[in-house]
Amino acid sequence: MRQVQDITESKKIAEAQRLAQLGRLLADMAHEVNNPLMIISGRSELTLLEGVKDGKIKDTLKIIMDQCFLAKDIIQSLLKYSRIGKIEKGDVDIEKTLELITDILQHHLQLSNIVLEKDFKLDLSGMVVVGNEKQLQEIFMNVVRNAADAMPSGGKITVSTSKEKKFLKIDVIDTGEGMPKEVMDRILEPFFTTKPKGTGLGLAVCHTIVQEHGGQLRYASEPGKGTTASILLPIEEK
Ligand code: ADP
Ligand code: MG
Repeated sequence: MRQVQDITESKKIAEAQRLAQLGRLLADMAHEVNNPLMIISGRSELTLLEGVKDGKIKDTLKIIMDQCFLAKDIIQSLLKYSRIGKIEKGDVDIEKTLELITDILQHHLQLSNIVLEKDFKLDLSGMVVVGNEKQLQEIFMNVVRNAADAMPSGGKITVSTSKEKKFLKIDVIDTGEGMPKEVMDRILEPFFTTKPKGTGLGLAVCHTIVQEHGGQLRYASEPGKGTTASILLPIEEK
């Protein structure tokens, strides 16, 4: 019996070491790939600024730049993915985090004709979520950004808080285009995107972070009407 346990233990350690190695490899690769990408996008931008006349070449250069930025986004998201679970957790003042992020986003969204309304019904003073603040911000940012992407000609996003059993429930409700069932079934899949410049990694990262925090991510949507994303996180008294 004892030997069986020892084997499982050493298997676990080997697996952890392998993952750590993979993470380092990914970080190194990201760094190495970023440099040539920066050079490619930089040169393209410079050539554009130098006043290319030919419309076709101009368009091509713009595509090269766009695709470089997309590749950089993918690398950044993969890095976030590889770090989930390794990052330290602590007591996060979730009310402060929500206020901070909504304030930052509110300003940006105004420029796209989107009103962000805070409906923080719940008294969160003295309550904490045990987790990593940066990662919790990341979830929230991604979900609100998706809501904004679904409203290209403007609309409204309502962020509301409530309690469901031992969870804090943060609803992000948009008045955007919504999504059909075929899309909704796949939104958590890595690299699944319906956007020309999407990475398809936003919700895959969010989902993994939420799970890592012992929470849940739920979606409800109706095409043409809008979407409600619900982030559930375990909350406790400080
Ligand atoms: P990306 O934003 O790069 O496409 P995500 O993983 O963040 O990747 O989202 C995956 C897909 O889920 C999106 O391409 C979109 O089709 C769908 N989606 C997510 N949030 C919403 C929303 N609020 N309204 C409509 N569709 C959404
Ligand atoms: Mg996204």
